Amino acid sequence: MTESSQPAAPFVPGPGESVVVYLEPDAGPASSASSPGSADGPADGPGVSLRVDDPRRPAILVTDQGLTRGDGVFETMTAVATEGSGSGSGTGAPFRVRKEDSHLARLATSAEALEIPLPPAPAWRQAAAAGLDAFAAGNPGVDAVVKLVATRGPEGAPGGGHYVRGAADVGSDGELAEATEPGLLAPPHLTGTYWVLVSPVSRGLAAARERGLKVLLLDRGVDSGVAERAPWLLMGTKSLSYAVNMAALRYAASQGADDVIFTSSDGQVLEGPTSTVLMARRIPQQDGSTGIELITPLRSSGILPGTSQGTIFAAAQAAGWQLGYGPLEPSDLVDADGVWLVSSVRLVAPVTHLDGEEILQDPELTELLNGFLAEDREPGEHGP
Ligand code: PLP
Repeated sequence: MTESSQPAAPFVPGPGESVVVYLEPDAGPASSASSPGSADGPADGPGVSLRVDDPRRPAILVTDQGLTRGDGVFETMTAVATEGSGSGSGTGAPFRVRKEDSHLARLATSAEALEIPLPPAPAWRQAAAAGLDAFAAGNPGVDAVVKLVATRGPEGAPGGGHYVRGAADVGSDGELAEATEPGLLAPPHLTGTYWVLVSPVSRGLAAARERGLKVLLLDRGVDSGVAERAPWLLMGTKSLSYAVNMAALRYAASQGADDVIFTSSDGQVLEGPTSTVLMARRIPQQDGSTGIELITPLRSSGILPGTSQGTIFAAAQAAGWQLGYGPLEPSDLVDADGVWLVSSVRLVAPVTHLDGEEILQDPELTELLNGFLAEDREPGEHGP
């Protein structure tokens, strides 16, 4: 959708700059739209057009509920520049997107939880590829962060307005959109706002990884049973409502810490604001050797299932490590042989301090975990 009928020159970001690709639902019947949350669908059928643009150009309506309510979902994945990639490569992929299937699956799960209709997975893949092509043209050989965003769309748009129980979803202009079944949201038209942002990887992250992290344990204020009891709280969903997570990080910074591990009100270890917690124990075996147990908190305690944790666990299992799932308490972290925060962008960062107290670190285990993550195995199921 360009302003004139002249095809615009493709946008190429300068060095260090970002590029955005909008997934724009085509006008007309949304026959190719997927059901809320579905990641399956036609590879390149009608329904969604891609538009590559400069992210500095205004594009989102002020009524978009992603902005006004944080009502949307997102994913952040990374793309590794492949050898020989560079400007004008045109052929072949200049990047390898890491764990793309897992991220798309989680985007679909999050969208399903929020009942936001989603373009099919192939459209997201194509948008990411288009963004990475444009990014590579201006940033040859530079690794990228690829952020996928889907919002509920503007208030008042058919299907994008407020939820009204019954047969219709009423936009603020009074327009009615028929619902497929009473009590459900609007039909699965692509009424949201969808984009992919491709940016360079921040250099500061590697330094933080090298240094290790001073972490504060902070109460999330909910108990570990809340996810099951109160699904409307969207625990364990990658929704756009990250203001609390960011506030926790600012609080940690004000106390001289680098990061946070949330705990539940009943004392369980949960997750970081943007990361999964891992801990390891070295366990003496009967034959005199030492085994390793790698443990992550219980998913049912209301945490986001991490794609990095999943892929690390798959490789650790292949390497003969034991895998464990919480419940974990802060004392388990204090007694561990190593504690890490892991995520797609930050990778594996060792925790050096918990609430100001130094804890054991194991650089050998850190290196092994980084190696596991780099294997890019298909993650297995997160445990209970
Ligand atoms: N937990 C939370 C709350 C997150 O926001 C993230 C990532 O941003 C993670 C865990 C780690 O997930 P992944 O390894 O898939 O990046």
